[in-house]
Amino acid sequence: MAEQNKIVWVAGPCSAETEEQLLCCAEHLKGKVQFFRAGLWKPRTLPSSFAGLGKDALPWLLKVREKYAQKIGTEVANEEQMNICLDAKLDFLWLGARTTTNPILVQQLADCLQTYKSTHKAERLPIIFIKNPIAPDLNLWIGAIRRFQTVCQEVIAVHRGFKTSDLQFGDYRYAPVWSLPIELKRNLPEITLLHDPSHTAGRADLVQQLSEQAMLLDFDGLMVEVHPHPVEALSDAAQQLDFDGFDLMFNSIRKPEKRNADIELLQLRKQIDEADDELWNAVLKRQQLSCLIGEYKKKHNLPVLQTDRYNELIGRRLEWGRRNGLSEKTIMQIVEALHTASVEQQLVR
Ligand code: PEP
Ligand code: MN
Repeated sequence: MAEQNKIVWVAGPCSAETEEQLLCCAEHLKGKVQFFRAGLWKPRTLPSSFAGLGKDALPWLLKVREKYAQKIGTEVANEEQMNICLDAKLDFLWLGARTTTNPILVQQLADCLQTYKSTHKAERLPIIFIKNPIAPDLNLWIGAIRRFQTVCQEVIAVHRGFKTSDLQFGDYRYAPVWSLPIELKRNLPEITLLHDPSHTAGRADLVQQLSEQAMLLDFDGLMVEVHPHPVEALSDAAQQLDFDGFDLMFNSIRKPEKRNADIELLQLRKQIDEADDELWNAVLKRQQLSCLIGEYKKKHNLPVLQTDRYNELIGRRLEWGRRNGLSEKTIMQIVEALHTASVEQQLVR
C-alpha cells in the first residue's frame, strides 16, 4: 500500500452532516486524496452531543463514490453498523479510539467481518483502519490489528494521540507519545501507519506541525478532518481544516528523502556511539553505587524511598538543565528512569 515517497491521504469531514456538505468537500478533495472519510455514527462522550446521522447519511457517501470515483469510508463501532457498511460495500472502515480500547468488541467486529466473508463468499473486503486506543497501551492496539489481520487482506494503523497523565503535551488535545507508534512499527514493520493530526491536536492551527513531525518519523500518510465551514461543524469544529487550510498543507507536506548514510552522517554516528559508551559506563557505575547504598539502607533499616533526597536530585538536575539548555521534560524523563532503576534494584533485598 505505502509507496516510497508517496503520502497516503485520508480526508473528509468529521461527520456527514448534509448531502451538500459531503459533495462539496469531495469535489474539493478529488484528485488529491485516495480515501474520503465521513463519520455516520459518532461515539460522543456526552449524550447531548451530535451523534451523527447514521444510515440516513449513507446514500450521500455512496454518491461521493459514484460522482468522484473516490474510495469512501466511515467509523463502525458495533455489528449492526458494520453489517450496514458491508452491505453498502464501503471501501474502508475504521475502528475508533474508544472501540479499540475494548478487545471483546474488537473481536466481535472481526468475527462479524469473518461471517460476512464466508456467507457472501466475498473476495474483496473493505480495508480496515485501526486507530490507537485512548490509553497509551501498545498491546491493545497491536491486539486489535492482529484480530483483523487474520480476517482481511489489508489493515492500516492510525495514530491519533493518547489520553495520559503527562501534563507536558502542550496545547494538544491528546498527547502524541510518538514512542508508541515507533514501537508499533518495530513490532509490525510491514504495517501502513498513518497519523491523524486532527484528533491529536484538537485545533486546526496545530495540524500542520504535527503532520510535518509525522513525516519526519516516517509515517506513511495522514488522516485529516476537512470541512467546508469548520465553524459550523456539528462535531470537532475547532480541529477541522477549511479548504484553504487543507490546500496549504497538502501542497507543502513532503516525505523526507530516504538514502543511505553518507560519510558525514557515519562519522557523527560514530561519535554518538562513543558518547553512548561513556554514558552506559556511567549508568553501570551508578547502579553499582546504588547497590552499595541499598545494602547500607538494609543494614541500618532505612527506607528505600527517601523523597527529600529524590527532590534534591531533581532540583539540582533541573537547574543544571536550565543552564545547559536541556528541556525540563527531557531532564524529568531521564531522572525518573534512573531513579526508578535504582529504587527497583534496592527493593530486591
Ligand atoms: C473520528 O475519526 O472522527 C473519530 C471519532 O476518531 P477517534 O476515534 O480517533 O476519536
Ligand atoms: Mn472527529
